[in-house]
Amino acid sequence: MHLNPYGEDAVNLAADLANRRPATAGELADRCRAAGLVLESPVTREDLDRLHAVLDEWEKVVDASGEHERAELVNRMLAASAAYPRMTDHAGGGWHLHYRDHGQPLGSVLFSLFSVGTALHLAGRGMHRLRRCAVTECDLIFADTSRTGRQRYCSPRCANRDAVRRHRAGRGR
Ligand SMILES: [Zn+2]
Ligand SMILES: [Zn+2]
Repeated sequence: MHLNPYGEDAVNLAADLANRRPATAGELADRCRAAGLVLESPVTREDLDRLHAVLDEWEKVVDASGEHERAELVNRMLAASAAYPRMTDHAGGGWHLHYRDHGQPLGSVLFSLFSVGTALHLAGRGMHRLRRCAVTECDLIFADTSRTGRQRYCSPRCANRDAVRRHRAGRGR
């Protein structure tokens, strides 16, 4: 996975894994591969445990109460996960930047990927563009990559659900 300038793929993968956490190392490997990640070594139980710890931290960023708290939490993740950037062509798919040391296990790769990707997304697109769905019972996390930056729902389905509900509430008055 190449980090595009807005970190979109990385932040979307973090949201996907947080919303439906993988139960096994095999599932984690499959879903990372499907997202375009090149796996350099076999995925282990430790990677899965590490992922859960990373997602717990990452969800605090999602639920931060303001942009300063959010930035502080991202900075903490960056400090603990990222190394100086370096150029690599490890997958033969073109030169790109890694913000981590070579030869890291997947759990650490994801930690660095989510930290840097989230920082790029928030700094590039707007500090408010990471949230949970406005439908209370849904609660799914999404990164708002819309043009206007005013996305409130995880999906069109949830947007419709809420529109129907508001319509009914209006009629009941
Ligand atoms: Zn790479
Ligand atoms: Zn939703």
